[in-house]
Amino acid sequence: MATTPTYQAFINGERVDGSSGETFGVTNPATEEEIARVALCNEADVEAAVAAAAAAAPGWAGKPVSERSKVLLKLSQLIMENAAELAELETREHGSPLRKTMNFDVPLCAEQFEYFAGVARAETGETLPVGPWATSYTVREPLGVVGLITPWNFPALMVVWKLGAALVTGNACIVKPPTVAPLTTLRLAELATEAGAPPGAVNVLTGPGGSVGEALVRHPGVAKIGFTGDTETGKRIMAVASETVKAVGLELGGNNAFIVMGDADVAAAAEGAAFGAFFNSGQVCAAASRFYVHESVYDEFAERFVAATAALQMGDPMDMGTVIGPVVYEGHRDKVESYIAQTKKEGATLLLGGERPDMPGLWVAPTVFGDCTNDMAVMQNEVFGPVVGLAKFSTPEEAVALTNDTQYGLSASVWTKDVRQAMVMASQIQAGTVWINEHLIIFCETPWGGCKQSGWGKDLSTMALEEYSYTKHIYIDLTGAEVKPWYQILK
Ligand code: NAD
Repeated sequence: MATTPTYQAFINGERVDGSSGETFGVTNPATEEEIARVALCNEADVEAAVAAAAAAAPGWAGKPVSERSKVLLKLSQLIMENAAELAELETREHGSPLRKTMNFDVPLCAEQFEYFAGVARAETGETLPVGPWATSYTVREPLGVVGLITPWNFPALMVVWKLGAALVTGNACIVKPPTVAPLTTLRLAELATEAGAPPGAVNVLTGPGGSVGEALVRHPGVAKIGFTGDTETGKRIMAVASETVKAVGLELGGNNAFIVMGDADVAAAAEGAAFGAFFNSGQVCAAASRFYVHESVYDEFAERFVAATAALQMGDPMDMGTVIGPVVYEGHRDKVESYIAQTKKEGATLLLGGERPDMPGLWVAPTVFGDCTNDMAVMQNEVFGPVVGLAKFSTPEEAVALTNDTQYGLSASVWTKDVRQAMVMASQIQAGTVWINEHLIIFCETPWGGCKQSGWGKDLSTMALEEYSYTKHIYIDLTGAEVKPWYQILK
């Protein structure tokens, strides 16, 4: 009988057991079988990782950006050389279909390291106009040791978003990957070392957020926490980080509106809706989850959306035809199912799904509710699964008001042929990203991040480089005078 492989943590360029010697299990959600045992790290491991990163940081920061850039380019190449292994690993630990991990997650990881390798070399400071008697300029400096805490919904991509920017700007990184899906992150750290990142520049501590993650947030040797995850966890991280006045970047939850105007191309909107709502089984921070549809096209849109969704193949994630995989772990399926039960109770009309599929594994069928009102839980909270609600509106002002009536501000989309109307609505919607006639598309070149309780700070784009560096102002006196003119204030 095959034994379950054990994955160690990664500290100072080496695989190491957690100091407790204990491990925890990682389960394939499609089969509910344990596929790995992983080192259960504790505070002593956090100390070891911080020491390794602190030792590595000055040397890594002292290299020219061109050298750090080459490490990222090599890492990008190694990711593509190991694409099949990485994609399979992510499919097995997370349940995301191989079709997606092969064609989306892994190539995007490679592309994002390429992007940061290139764009960091074009970063410059500013020369500031302080007068003829001095010159003044700014430079960006690395922060030192940074902690990157990531969620399970895109286990590899979410760490790459942060790691690319943090590494190329000269920081040493300690990653706390998602507890339920840490395997791809561990492999990426090994590949980073193979690509030339010095020992200690990339460390991975596996284990629960409440202990390992929080010890990282609390540690005075960590300059910043780049966090992606739930809004409630973000609040806790802010509180703990305040003890050391630590900088935090927070990419938090969302409940994202998808607005279909009366003049929209309804067929295109319905296809976009099926993708925007059910990509990654709806386990996407920016997933379309609240649909506001103009009353004149509501019935047509609902019918087309349900038909497009029903055509999505759900099943074995290793089958290249599958587009809908399981949800990630049992407790999460319970949470998603509780939203289905509550929305039924609240009186919405079930248009599709709503029942647990009769197959082994952690499945939730794509579920669409009609006739929703904005006070329903599915319209206010983040379900983070394949469950969405549809509501009618009659005026653009009403659609914007419904969209903004939430604690979240991550993203939204407007579907219309009237670009003027779309631009007015985009300016009124409170969200970090507004798409027009699209939903979910994200580029390396465009900033990603929310407002309100969806957090602050940006991943991706040149703005991510600013997240992992600080501005230093340098002033040089050019007078050469012993007594400077402005000393007259005191003398
Ligand atoms: P989560 O907050 O439960 O966990 C995220 C990470 O934080 C994990 O590594 C976890 O172990 C760790 N953690 C948990 N408690 C901690 C603590 N007290 N101190 C330090 N670390 C702690 O989130 P999740 O369930 O893994 O991910 C889903 C959430 O992520 C959703 O809310 C989703 O919207 C959000 N998300 C946001 C974005 C974005 O860009 N805004 C992207 C992806 C996911």
